[in-house]
Amino acid sequence: MKKPKLITRSHGAGGLLSQQLIAQQFAPLLKRAGQALNDAAVITIGDTKVAFSTDSFTVSPLFFPGGDIGSLAIHGTVNDVAMMGGLPEFISLAFVIEEGFSAQALHRITQSVAEAADRCSVAVVTGDTKVVERGAADGLFINTSGLGVVPAQINIDPRQVAVGDVLLINGTIADHGVAVMCAREELDVSGEILSDSAPVADITGQLINKLGEKVHALRDPTRGGLASTLNEITTQAGVILEIDQTTLPILPQVAGVCEILGLDPLQVACEGKVLAFVDGSVADEALTIMKSCGGGKQAAIIGQVIGADWPQVRLRTPLGTTRIVEMPPGEILPRIC
Ligand code: MG
Repeated sequence: MKKPKLITRSHGAGGLLSQQLIAQQFAPLLKRAGQALNDAAVITIGDTKVAFSTDSFTVSPLFFPGGDIGSLAIHGTVNDVAMMGGLPEFISLAFVIEEGFSAQALHRITQSVAEAADRCSVAVVTGDTKVVERGAADGLFINTSGLGVVPAQINIDPRQVAVGDVLLINGTIADHGVAVMCAREELDVSGEILSDSAPVADITGQLINKLGEKVHALRDPTRGGLASTLNEITTQAGVILEIDQTTLPILPQVAGVCEILGLDPLQVACEGKVLAFVDGSVADEALTIMKSCGGGKQAAIIGQVIGADWPQVRLRTPLGTTRIVEMPPGEILPRIC
């Protein structure tokens, strides 16, 4: 793996270049602490297992249909804690603000943070503010960290994903990426497209409570979309996953924008979605649980683990043919979250 001389935006896009940068620069740090590259670290404090996660938000524009950087910063971190089986409770909130930023816009953002925190039943308990000179930040950036207790018997780990597991998603794909891009480029799309930014901790909590160890892996497909997330998991587990295109939930207007712009919806970011790998014996039960939760009405079983010969993601098309779903190489949509 060649080491880059300079960091490009593609190194932050969640695809192959992000993965390489993380492997070269940051994974060794986590490895020293016995941590793998998951949505959150699982650590032990005293006798208590805790999921601990951090995320920075640089989305442009700051306000978009269906959300803004404030709610996104809460939902994103809450969801990452939930993906490792944590029940999110505490959040830190750090702002980097550009000189000249509107105090009124900042107030809107902090209000949105407060509303999102209430919705997720998390408390913002610590924070930080930095102001940098004009041009040094595009309006503002936010960093959040989150903490939540993981039930003692729960062990969510992509390495548990095995042949016979089924893959579920709680709803439509690519909404967030397309909504933000349409807002940024001021594209006028018939049929409004809203970001799906939302907490999914209720869905993961219910799955874990009711199905216990039959839940093998959970991950939220954000940057890089399903293509990145599913390639990450199949690589960690060493399995072949086949997803069925006819079962993938997607809004027609989202599919339309992707087609016009030449985007593969599998590579476009979601925000309020969870991909769940569960034991095949509880597939229908898992689907019923997802559908009974808020944000889960359009849940579907979208794939199955069919082999353990090597890591691969395949897509079965409506014509019955299959193609390999590659890890996106680099920048698809920058500054999406
Ligand atoms: Mg995540």
